[in-house]
Amino acid sequence: MSLSNIDRRVVDELIDTEELYQNAPCGYLSFLPDGTIIKINRTLLRWLNYNSEEVLYKKKFTDLISKGAALHFEMFFRPLVNATGVVNQLSYDILAKDRSSFPVFLSAVSVKAEDGQVKAVNATLYDVRERKLYEQELLLSKKKADAERKRFEVLSDFNPEIIWTAAADGKIDYVNRRFYQYFNTAEFSLNTALEKVCTHDRFKLFKAWRTGLNKRQGFAVEIRLKNQADSFEWHLIKGEVYIEEASAPARWIGSCTNIDSQVKSIQRRDEFINIASHELKTPITSLKAYHQILQRIALPANAENFLSRANISLNSLEFLASSLLDVSKIDANQLSLNPTTFSITEALQECIDIVSAARRSHTIISQFDPTLSLAVFADRQRIMQVVINLINNAIKYSPDADQVEVYLEPNASGTLVKIEIRDFGVGIPQEQLDLIFEKYYRVNDTKNNNKAAGLGLGLYIIQNILRHHQSRVFVNSEINKGSSFYFSLPLSQS
Ligand code: ADP
Repeated sequence: MSLSNIDRRVVDELIDTEELYQNAPCGYLSFLPDGTIIKINRTLLRWLNYNSEEVLYKKKFTDLISKGAALHFEMFFRPLVNATGVVNQLSYDILAKDRSSFPVFLSAVSVKAEDGQVKAVNATLYDVRERKLYEQELLLSKKKADAERKRFEVLSDFNPEIIWTAAADGKIDYVNRRFYQYFNTAEFSLNTALEKVCTHDRFKLFKAWRTGLNKRQGFAVEIRLKNQADSFEWHLIKGEVYIEEASAPARWIGSCTNIDSQVKSIQRRDEFINIASHELKTPITSLKAYHQILQRIALPANAENFLSRANISLNSLEFLASSLLDVSKIDANQLSLNPTTFSITEALQECIDIVSAARRSHTIISQFDPTLSLAVFADRQRIMQVVINLINNAIKYSPDADQVEVYLEPNASGTLVKIEIRDFGVGIPQEQLDLIFEKYYRVNDTKNNNKAAGLGLGLYIIQNILRHHQSRVFVNSEINKGSSFYFSLPLSQS
């Protein structure tokens, strides 16, 4: 059966239009040109808390709206509906019986007589309370977000560093006031700014930034930027990932700090160490020569004692000077190796003998078979320097123990040999295990460390010597139980 065939009565049976009018989910209202209400549906009466007798022919439309809305009605609504016959979606506040108000959207059409005069107006009202609430909430959270943003901007403008933020794809979307001051520009254009001021290290910066972006990992890079006096200053650029909202993609926040004075003072210190270590070499060598001559000359009995003490001091002076020299070489990338094939078993035994002769407080126990034939291809002098330094540290940082153990162990496949120096001393706090390999770093909360002399360079040198051998040193440690330092070298296949 097609729609046109449906009997009109069947439609009337199916759809009760009166019922639809009365209980529709919106309010219906008809009023005369003077505003007198002549028809109103049940939904609207319910919203307003009136019954129909109280409203019909007794109230005017303007009685049901706020004063402001009534003014609007007289000035705009009525002329508009008279002229065009229709008004759409006006936002009014409507008044209930208890004079409380709520917002509605009002649309209306006029009913005109044949002579064109308006006879009545039919209006539809939609309750928009929920929608208004939602809009208010939205407005409130926008205001909150704006206030947060403002707070962040004020704080970061106070900062003497350049602060920036970027979207997940790395596009910078905020820079603080310092940026504009530093680059002497009123406009934000990172590329133009960088082209002008970052001529030396632009590639280094982009590489660090790209790597950070790809791995979604914070980064820090030191670069030179040109200042307004056209000279370069060192800056530390840092970027960190942060999550603004659980569902939102990660964003970036970063800074650019002028570290010129720190970098320059480190450079000056390194330069001084470099010169001093070279200059110390000559007088130490001649002192040693004079010492050897004196040893051969017959001296009064008490002078022998002074001579041996002078030798001890001379040796530690020589060790300090050669440590400084090593650091200069490492920093200048000039640490060179002289590799040969040698027996690591013999070299280790030699190290033990050398330290045992000089330091009698501890017994150095070799926990390996001295007849083991294990050859490595490495710089013998440098590997012995590593081992002697580790054994000396083991003794230095275990004042209450009386022994140190040295292990030598080839792996199962016979490709590597592991060298380990174990002590029963003060140990190292876990959180500082990575730091002890940094230049000049010394643990300062071990009771022993204040007494033990040192420059904090030994492990830095060891790490670098082993790096040149494609190896590295590892450490396990427990406070007041002891430490174990170990590294591996590839075995030479004979
Ligand atoms: P130095 O011994 O001259 O201070 P190192 O670079 O050799 O410099 O060592 C750095 C720091 O690591 C030391 O100051 C010490 O705090 C800690 N350390 C090194 N070896 C040991 C060890 N065997 N036991 C405990 N602490 C150690």
